[in-house]
Amino acid sequence: MRETTLDTGCLVLPLFVRRGRKLRRPIKAMPGVFQLSPDELLCDARIAFEAGVPAVLLFGIPDKKDPRASGAYAANGIVQQAVKVLKRELPDLIVITDVCLCEYMSHGHCGIVRGKGPAARILNDPTLSLLARTAASHAEAGADMVAPSDMMDGRVVAIRSELDKRGFVNTPIMSYAAKFASAFYGPFREAAESAPAFGDRRSYQMDAGNTNEALREVALDIAEGADIVMVKPALAYLDIIYRIKTQFGYPTAAYAVSAEHAMIKAAAANGWIDERAVTLESLLAMRRAGADILITYAATDVARWLKAG
Ligand SMILES: [Zn+2]
Repeated sequence: MRETTLDTGCLVLPLFVRRGRKLRRPIKAMPGVFQLSPDELLCDARIAFEAGVPAVLLFGIPDKKDPRASGAYAANGIVQQAVKVLKRELPDLIVITDVCLCEYMSHGHCGIVRGKGPAARILNDPTLSLLARTAASHAEAGADMVAPSDMMDGRVVAIRSELDKRGFVNTPIMSYAAKFASAFYGPFREAAESAPAFGDRRSYQMDAGNTNEALREVALDIAEGADIVMVKPALAYLDIIYRIKTQFGYPTAAYAVSAEHAMIKAAAANGWIDERAVTLESLLAMRRAGADILITYAATDVARWLKAG
C-alpha cells in the first residue's frame, strides 16, 4: 500500500576534493564527511558506487584563490583532475560537478565583486561568462552533468550556449533553481572553505519567506534550458519541492544540506534519535513532496541500509 518509495537509484553523494595524496581531512561539523585528495576520492566514490549510489556531485577546494576565480576553469583545476580520475576508473558512475566560483574567489562570493566593504556589489552579468567557462571545462574533463549553484540570473542559458558551442549538446544542466539564503549551510562553508569574507549572499540567494519567487526562479531556469531543477535546503522546504513538482512536473532534485546532516549526526551521537530511521524517513518525506533526486551526505549509508532491507 506504500505510495512513495525510496530506492538507491535516486541518490547522489556530494564529495569534496583538494590536491594531495592520501589526504582525508575531516570536516568538524559534518561527521563522516571529508576533504579528499583525488586518490581518496576515488576510494569513496567506488565504495558508494558499489553500494548502489549511481552518482556523485563534486566540489573542489583549490590551493589558491583570486578575484577572478581562475582555479574554477583551469584545464588542470582540481575538479577537472578529479573528474578525469573518476571517469577513467569508474566509467559508469555519473559524475556531476558543482559549478560556482565562491570556492575559488579570494572574497568567497559566487560572482565578481566590485567595490569594498558595505559598498561592495556582486556583478551579475560579467560573472556569467566565467560560469560558462567553468561548466565547459568540466564537460571537457568528462563530467556527465553540470550543476550551477551560484544563483546569478541568466547563468543557465549562458552555460547551455557555451556547452553547445563546444559540442557538449548532450551534457545536461541540473540547476540550483530555488536556492535559499539559509542558515542550514553553515557546516558546508567549512567543508568548501567558501565563507564570504564580507557581507552575505542575500543579494543573489532567496529569502526563506518566499514561495512565489521560487516558482519564478524555476520557471526562468526551465525556460533557459535547465534539465533538472533543484531545491536547497530540503527538509525545511518540502512545501517548495511540492509546489515546484506540482506546477512544472519537471525532474526535481532536493539537496539535504550540511546542517540537516549535522543535526541528525549530532542527535544520533548523543543517543537521542535512531540515525538510520530518521535519515530514511527524512529522505522519504522529500520523495513524497515530489523530489526525484536526493542529494545527501548519507547516500552511501542509505544505499547500504536499503539493500539490507
Ligand atoms: Zn557559490
